[in-house]
Amino acid sequence: MNQVLLIGAGGVGSVVAHKCAMVPEVFGAITLASRTQSKCEAIAAEVKHRTGREIATAQVDADDPVQTAALIRRTGAKLVINVALPYQDLAIMDACLEAGCDYLDTANYEPKEVARFEYSWQWAYQDRFAKAGRCALLGSGFDPGVTNVFTAWALKHHFDEIHTLDIIDVNGGKHDKAFATNFNPEINLREVTAPCRHFEGGGLVETAPLSLHQAFTCPDGVGTFEIYRMYHEELESLVKHLPTIRRAQFWMSFSPNYLKHLEVLQNVGMTRIDPVVFHGLEIVPLQFLKAVLPDPGELGKSTTGKTCIGNVITGSKDGQAKAVYLYNICDHEACFAEVGSQAISYTTGVPAMLGAKQMLAGEWRQPGVWNMEQLNPDAFMADLQRHGLPWTCVELTPQQAASFQVA
Ligand code: NDP
Repeated sequence: MNQVLLIGAGGVGSVVAHKCAMVPEVFGAITLASRTQSKCEAIAAEVKHRTGREIATAQVDADDPVQTAALIRRTGAKLVINVALPYQDLAIMDACLEAGCDYLDTANYEPKEVARFEYSWQWAYQDRFAKAGRCALLGSGFDPGVTNVFTAWALKHHFDEIHTLDIIDVNGGKHDKAFATNFNPEINLREVTAPCRHFEGGGLVETAPLSLHQAFTCPDGVGTFEIYRMYHEELESLVKHLPTIRRAQFWMSFSPNYLKHLEVLQNVGMTRIDPVVFHGLEIVPLQFLKAVLPDPGELGKSTTGKTCIGNVITGSKDGQAKAVYLYNICDHEACFAEVGSQAISYTTGVPAMLGAKQMLAGEWRQPGVWNMEQLNPDAFMADLQRHGLPWTCVELTPQQAASFQVA
């Protein structure tokens, strides 16, 4: 029986716990651990209510590899699914090596003091995982995650070479809060306010945050949204592993209301990540802001509308130019009905469960540290269709493809 340890009891952790519990033939025994055990217990009660399965809970400070390794040994976990915060990635990887366990996460490591998004720290574990015969799967969410697998699958089935990649993440959802982020506010705001980088001309090109935007009409009546170019971590691994890519960009939709609040918060210094002294105490403004913003895990009950996340890919096949658009549409209310969460947590949590399923089945269990595009995409793509994230692939005409390609 496979024992798995989930770390992190936030919006994403709740979805992973539910979805793992729904696949008992793979996830034989589940322990959900986090800094605040009462949050794990609340999720365990919901999982029991919805699926009838018992999951164990535990308290852990995952910044401490000794504590985490002890918990891994105590539970007998074969795999840790890390859906805590990116700050914990390296400490949990250390704990996995120490206790002899595989590792999966959904976001690359970031040091707390600087919003720097790169894989170098985690790629540096390659030899240690390979020598220990352990496997680490990086970025098994939607983006990164499914978007990486979409790219690998497109290369395998539609192209001889990929030349351009535009990843487009639209959240067309609405909720009843004046301002909220759809995943952890601290991580979300660090990402959105960072300088934009896209890949072109053989390297990353830096531009001002959110300075380039365009309208994008989603398929199937989801709507038309303004999408903004920004940096996202999968660009780094995809251009490394698919070296024929000449240009790669990432776009995300933001409503005028979100941008208005973001501008004010930035102008008044609330998105700063350096400490300030307040009443004799050092506080980080962004961490304080997180404490007063809505918990994304609580947005599910009031969120309506859909997400539409996918890749526009151009390249060549048999000497001819070709373009495809691969996407998933996910309905916030349907996610809430199924697992009590909004679609952003859902679209992250389902691929985390499916990546873990692939590892436990041995399909993706090679010693070393892997990004999703390096692995065979077929079984994962089939599982997306079965486990709540159905996707569609349409061929685009050269004119349609060109309309996505804003430089
Ligand atoms: P939340 O803030 O809702 O949850 C994070 C959880 O981690 C909380 O339960 C928190 O505990 C726990 N945690 C934080 N620090 C520690 C620690 N030192 N030890 C143990 N537990 C800790 O975040 P989300 O669920 O929204 O996001 C989870 C992850 O998913 C993030 O890394 C995020 O970047 C990633 N993500 C990835 C996406 C993708 O598509 N790839 C998309 C969206 C998110 P406490 O409650 O006590 O603070």
